Amino acid sequence: MVISAVTVLSAQNKSLVNTSQSPYAKLAGVGMGDVHWTNGFWAERFEVCRNSMSPKLLKTYMDEHVAHAFKNFEIAAKLDTGHHVGPPFHDGDFYKAFESLVSLYAVTGDKKLDQLMDEIIPVIVKAQRADGYIHTPTTIAERNNPEKAKAFADRLNFETYNMGHLMTAACLHYRVTGKRTLLDAAIKATDYLYAFYKKASPELARNAICPSHYMGVVEMYRTTRDPKYLELAKSLIDIRGMMKDGTDDNQDRVPFRQQTKAMGHAVRANYLYAGVADVYAETGDTSLLRPLNLIWNNLVNTKMYITGGCGALYDGVSPNGTSYQPNDVQKIHQAYGRDYQLPNMTAYNETCANIGNLLFNWRMLQLTGEAKYADLVELVLYNSILSGVSLDGVDFCYTNPLSQSSKFPYKMRWMGGRIPYIALSNCCPPNTTRTVSEVQNYAYNLSKEGLWVHLYGSNELNTTLENGEKIQLSQTTDYPWNGAVTINLKKIPKKSFALFVRIPGWCKGASLSVNGKEEQTNLASGTYVKLAREWKAGDKVELNLPMEAKLIEANPLVEETRNQVAVKRGPVVYCLEGSDLANENIFEVVIPSNIHFTVKPIEISGSHLMCLEGNAAIEKAPNWDNMLYREISPLKENVSIRLIPYFAWGNRGHVDMTVWMNLKR
Ligand SMILES: [Zn+2]
Repeated sequence: MVISAVTVLSAQNKSLVNTSQSPYAKLAGVGMGDVHWTNGFWAERFEVCRNSMSPKLLKTYMDEHVAHAFKNFEIAAKLDTGHHVGPPFHDGDFYKAFESLVSLYAVTGDKKLDQLMDEIIPVIVKAQRADGYIHTPTTIAERNNPEKAKAFADRLNFETYNMGHLMTAACLHYRVTGKRTLLDAAIKATDYLYAFYKKASPELARNAICPSHYMGVVEMYRTTRDPKYLELAKSLIDIRGMMKDGTDDNQDRVPFRQQTKAMGHAVRANYLYAGVADVYAETGDTSLLRPLNLIWNNLVNTKMYITGGCGALYDGVSPNGTSYQPNDVQKIHQAYGRDYQLPNMTAYNETCANIGNLLFNWRMLQLTGEAKYADLVELVLYNSILSGVSLDGVDFCYTNPLSQSSKFPYKMRWMGGRIPYIALSNCCPPNTTRTVSEVQNYAYNLSKEGLWVHLYGSNELNTTLENGEKIQLSQTTDYPWNGAVTINLKKIPKKSFALFVRIPGWCKGASLSVNGKEEQTNLASGTYVKLAREWKAGDKVELNLPMEAKLIEANPLVEETRNQVAVKRGPVVYCLEGSDLANENIFEVVIPSNIHFTVKPIEISGSHLMCLEGNAAIEKAPNWDNMLYREISPLKENVSIRLIPYFAWGNRGHVDMTVWMNLKR
């Protein structure tokens, strides 16, 4: 077996997305084991992930009677006999579950996790073909029915998606453990793809749907510095839009460089945008940055839910084609719709698409250091990603609607609410699990100038600057429930450096002091305060981010939310759930514009959250059965309401829920 001539591997940087050598990225990540949540919100989520989400998901995937994912590898590896069971993207989802083990191990150093990974890896390695191709459905079919099995024969076979997740998981495993076992398999797979794309026609190459491999291939380049991987990543973008029958759903009807709007299948779209941002970080090709900026503006200003959710439509037709020929109308699914088309009950918002939004914005943040991207990283994490998993880490959502009603008259494809295993399409649970296990990686960045603080939550940071000097600090806060944050510097570099402290876009009136002395900095919303000085150990930075509950309205072009408000406190979007309004219809609640909310602790499913209590009005009326229009009813005043964080909905049974509520001005 010939492994490509990779001799120099950059193992020093152990970050989740390694932009430390990327010429066009401003920021670089800290090591995957450098941040430990100490207590509070993210510490609780991390523990749920460590003790419940990740082990239960792994158990599911290792159980051949439930998921059959690991069994597929064993059969492909000739350690067992049988047929492939499960969706074609099962391998990739197993790699994502594996990635959560890497991340948990990086933080905890738990030897059992290392041992488990060492047991899994040889089976994956053995399932790989000698030429580097690895995809258990085809490998197993090759053995059982050689005539019918052909690599890349079916675009819905998800081979490159699977290999992309192998690449990402392998890079991280290598960075964290220093072991090459999985990385060598990923090198063989990437070499296989490189050779494949050298000779593949555009039609064959378009088989690459759901492009997790754009990010994967660039991360392989960052790990190995093998220039042909960067060449491969560039060609993957160039080849898009070159075939005759491209679709908006797959973002390949027009070449990427000509695209201006977020379109099509939202997971594929966001993975594509994240991958292209990765290529830009290495190449500085401005013809890629231009569409990224246009698409970002279109997405954030016209197509994204208040929760950061992406992909409004279950099914639809593409609004992007220009033809009037009925036969040219293109179907789209799980997709972005038209600008401002944001229905609530039927919102798709697949958790994977929302995670793709995080991946896209994190990469844009690495390129630019602009706070608007960090705002979205935070928004998506707290709202449309955490909503994808139950508070106890056991049950998952596939779609993330902003409203649910028991009176809804028809069944959507995914009306299951939270369930432990989504048999036909379990992509979201492992994606959510790896993401929750990795949140600490999004808290800080390093740059030539200093340290950037993006996310707030009690933690210890212990990292090494590019020049080898150590920096150690702690963050103490009850964020996101309270905006007071204290940063204690414990170990500092000899030379002066800057601390970039994020003032969230939602925050007005932020103040900051250093060692008890108020800073005269202009603390504008949506910026970083730059504190450059000769720091000394023991220095203390205190940040105060006022976070009163606010009523938020949407652009009136969003028809579905006209004359309605959502409630947001700090980065957390709230919702009204039937469990908190016994004997009343939550859709009849009317929020007065001068409502005063009291913040109170609440425990749901063993998790500690803050709810909002206040007095609203209610429109009591006969039921709507067999009625489409009627005269309005008088308002009954003074109904006590309680709002809970949107991410916590659906943890107390299947009840009505809404983010948007009627407004009385
Ligand atoms: Zn998914």
